[in-house]
Amino acid sequence: MKSCASFFNIAMTQPLDTLGRPLRDLRISVTDRCNFRCTYCMPKEVFGRGYQFLPREELLSFEEIARLAAVFAGLGACKLRLTGGEPLMRRDLEGLVAMLSQVPGIDDLALTTNGSFPLERIAALQAAGLKRMTVSLDALDDAVFKAMNDVDFPVAAVLDWIEASAAAGLGPVKVNMVVQRGVNEGEILPMARYMRERGHILRLIEFMDVGSTNGWRLDDVVTARQIYEIVHAEMPLEPLQPNYRGEVAERYRYADGGGEIGIIASVSQPFCGDCTRARLSADGKLFTCLFAIQGADLRALLREGAGNAELSAAIASVWQRRADRYSELRSQQTAGLPKVEMSYIGG
Ligand code: SAM
Ligand code: SF4
Ligand code: SF4
Repeated sequence: MKSCASFFNIAMTQPLDTLGRPLRDLRISVTDRCNFRCTYCMPKEVFGRGYQFLPREELLSFEEIARLAAVFAGLGACKLRLTGGEPLMRRDLEGLVAMLSQVPGIDDLALTTNGSFPLERIAALQAAGLKRMTVSLDALDDAVFKAMNDVDFPVAAVLDWIEASAAAGLGPVKVNMVVQRGVNEGEILPMARYMRERGHILRLIEFMDVGSTNGWRLDDVVTARQIYEIVHAEMPLEPLQPNYRGEVAERYRYADGGGEIGIIASVSQPFCGDCTRARLSADGKLFTCLFAIQGADLRALLREGAGNAELSAAIASVWQRRADRYSELRSQQTAGLPKVEMSYIGG
């Protein structure tokens, strides 16, 4: 285990939130745009032609992102993940990766993508300093996948992206699959078999009530327990110890040897107690929870000329006031609250 990821190894200069959680991971959304319209994330009816995405001048520049990343690193963040929207929609993402790979104190630099771009970009990202690739794929069956991405994108191209990422040394590749009842639960076993055979780590994710546009209903959630039973019945599983405190996936290995699989139970078994994640939106707002309604405007501070010490103090003060545990409270106190979209805040 890397010391960076430790929940307990906390330097004096690193802030803790009101529940004693350190800041360890920073998820950076580099754009709110995407070339897919996954029905559970950016449904076409809402994210159609007339939808107002952030104007270019409101996006953080790469220099601004790198500067903030360095300030976050000074406060204890050691893992960075680029996300969105679709991060590869941002021109020259490789340039940003190169800048972030130079930030002292960062020892993990990962990208979450839908894997729909020309394969040449993988080598460029790896050369720029990317360490790990996570690819989202919700089905092996073309008809099911196309209905979910809603732009007719084929499975084969994403599978090629996964293989090329592994070949480029960005593995083991994690493959995110959001499971929705009545939509793709029949794809759990084919996906598990396929990814296992090739040494990729499938992560089955409970459909979450992020944002307010995806028509989420509790009835549409296939719970982690149900997902586990489906896989375990054909390929018996044994639990693995978490790699570090705060890891979101429950990890299992296949009992007959070889391979790992994760289940992310954000709805049925929330893990807020160990949540060390901060999120930076594409327009520079700091969110301390995936379900937060408001973010602290770091872009305004940056553009008003704040120095690093001032930025650091502002971020520390937000973190020290953090009391988020939305998923733990979900059913009791959060029904009907407004929420920001995942494509904006970064998944
Ligand atoms: N576009 C990239 C992608 O799809 O990998 C990165 C951004 S996407 C918002 C990040 C992850 O969030 C994806 O793996 C996606 O499947 C997941 N996601 C989006 N909406 C979700 C929801 N309602 N419940 C669970 N996971 C969701
Ligand atoms: Fe785009 Fe990713 Fe959301 Fe799908 S999950 S719409 S690929 S941002
Ligand atoms: Fe962290 Fe918020 Fe998710 Fe809880 S609901 S695990 S605090 S992001």
